[in-house]
Amino acid sequence: MNYSQLFIPTLREIPADAVIASHRLMFRAGLLRKLSNGLFAYLPLGFRSFKKVENIIREEMDAIGALEIKPTVIVPGELWKESGRWDLFGDSLLRLKNRLNNDFVVSPTAEEAFTAIVRDELSSYRQLPLTLYQINTKFRDEIRPRYGVMRGREFVMKDAYSYHADEASLDETYQAMGRAYRRIFKRCGLTVIPVKADSGAMGGSGSEEFMVESEIGDNTLILCKDCDYAANVEKASCAADYALPEPESADSIMSIENAKAAAANTPPYEKIDTPDVKTIDDLCAFLKTEPKNFIKTLIYRAVNVELDLSGAPGCSKLERSKPSKDAPFVYTEAFFAAAIRGDLDINEVKLASLLKAGEVSLTCDADVIRLTNAPVGFAGPIGLTEIPVIIDKSVSAMNDAVTGALEKDLHYRHAAYGRDFTSWMIEDIRTVKAGDRCSLCGGELYIKTGNELGHIFKLGNKYTRSMNVTYLDENGKSQIPVMGCYGVGVDRTLASVIEEHHDEAGIIWPASVAPFHIIIVPIKYAGEVKNSADKLASELTKAGFEVLLDDRDERPGVKFNDADLTGIPWRVVIGEKGIAQKKVEIKHRRDKENRMIDLNKAVIELVKNIRDELDQLKK
Ligand code: ATP
Ligand code: MG
Repeated sequence: MNYSQLFIPTLREIPADAVIASHRLMFRAGLLRKLSNGLFAYLPLGFRSFKKVENIIREEMDAIGALEIKPTVIVPGELWKESGRWDLFGDSLLRLKNRLNNDFVVSPTAEEAFTAIVRDELSSYRQLPLTLYQINTKFRDEIRPRYGVMRGREFVMKDAYSYHADEASLDETYQAMGRAYRRIFKRCGLTVIPVKADSGAMGGSGSEEFMVESEIGDNTLILCKDCDYAANVEKASCAADYALPEPESADSIMSIENAKAAAANTPPYEKIDTPDVKTIDDLCAFLKTEPKNFIKTLIYRAVNVELDLSGAPGCSKLERSKPSKDAPFVYTEAFFAAAIRGDLDINEVKLASLLKAGEVSLTCDADVIRLTNAPVGFAGPIGLTEIPVIIDKSVSAMNDAVTGALEKDLHYRHAAYGRDFTSWMIEDIRTVKAGDRCSLCGGELYIKTGNELGHIFKLGNKYTRSMNVTYLDENGKSQIPVMGCYGVGVDRTLASVIEEHHDEAGIIWPASVAPFHIIIVPIKYAGEVKNSADKLASELTKAGFEVLLDDRDERPGVKFNDADLTGIPWRVVIGEKGIAQKKVEIKHRRDKENRMIDLNKAVIELVKNIRDELDQLKK
């Protein structure tokens, strides 16, 4: 294809709002333009690469037996009401009405649409397992779209949904998806870090995110220096940093009996005056001790809690809603106390996951006062009976602690777990930090920030149950299938390729996703140079490669700069002097130096190099 026939509006200036390389380069190299905040148009060069990413994803999905379909982007609101997400999804869901006043949503994800399609067709276990996918437009009304297509409002996602008769079958597809995702990113030339991820209200172990390391990434990843442990901080756990007798060290919780024994020499707990002491630091200074000797107790408000709270303290009168007739009850709002060792922090995502809650956040002062009968700053687990108390495992090993006494200006000292208080629930709700120890090997944990490119997820029967999907098993008995979902963002993957492959001068495309494999730059597109350039372009095209021929009447410097900026992997320069000796200059975009080679060897040389790279990426 000739350059002059393409629409490649390269820019010398950097767009003002572009703070990351991919955003800058997609604009400068003429791949992308902005229509509005979070809404972008791919221009011809950008769209060529976009389609290549899409196709790699498609090939890998097809290879594991997933079946592509094309549902609509606009989905009836009714389906979202059935699943309960019409109310729960929040403001990023774009809702529409048609002329008949019917509700619709613009798909931000498509569990409902796929599950409705499957529901209508599924009757027998013989139809399972079934994995369907689409590569289609999504819309999320993101509060702050940023970094170009990394976080847009409209974007394209490959989303797959699988349906199974049992967990074992779900696990098989989940594992196959995990392998397919690794191949997708490898083929795009990306280095991804697969991490264990929070599986939200569904619980269970099945959730993995595929991250690329990025300074602007909004995910914190916890990694081990000595083994391959990797987890999103939302999910990460660490080894206990307190002494526990065997076998309790295995789950890091001291049993009540052992805790009582450990407190044998602790004096009885007693109230102490702590006037004008508000923070843990004040308290440390006042009592001349350290935060690790305190029990920090915070009051949380959780919304849309799916956990059964019927036996929990203070929960008997809670309001329950039911998004659909077969969905489980959901508590609209519930309050909890969460306690942790004073030098640690509570992880709200872990807490939300534990409570199967839509969201968990610190509650307002008025609620703290109402629920603890004390001003803010004096909560503690001893005597707190109005709400369920959840304590972190770390608290189980505290046998001589300071804690709030549920009264103004008063604390308890010598408080011991097991002896003086227990809890409604004891779990790991701690935020892991750099320097904590790996729970697998004891190695040191460290932190990276990352950007999520893909996410695979075991959903259990959340949607199939609420949306009434059933099939008949071998015995003719009605069953609800279990489900998995698997998403990867095409735009974000493309932008991440540029993040990983660029230099000062521009993009350096891996051959697999380059808009063209080769750019031919005639110094002056005329005479013998033009004949040779045309012939070379046609031969390379015949060999199955995509060639861009820079036929513009521009100075060589301009052409070279544009070739560097657009990042086409191989550049062939044809000049009068060289062609007189039947020689051309070739250079990979990555290399500094070019090489003169015989014109009649150019095709073989380029074909071999590009094939080698494509094979390497596929391995
Ligand atoms: P994030 O935490 O970044 O908002 P998410 O966890 O909400 O993402 P998923 O619902 O898991 O995203 O969607 C699957 C994939 O879709 C993501 O891994 C990402 O590649 C892509 N994606 C999600 N939101 C956007 C967006 N606003 N712009 C571009 N791609 C997106
Ligand atoms: Mg996600």
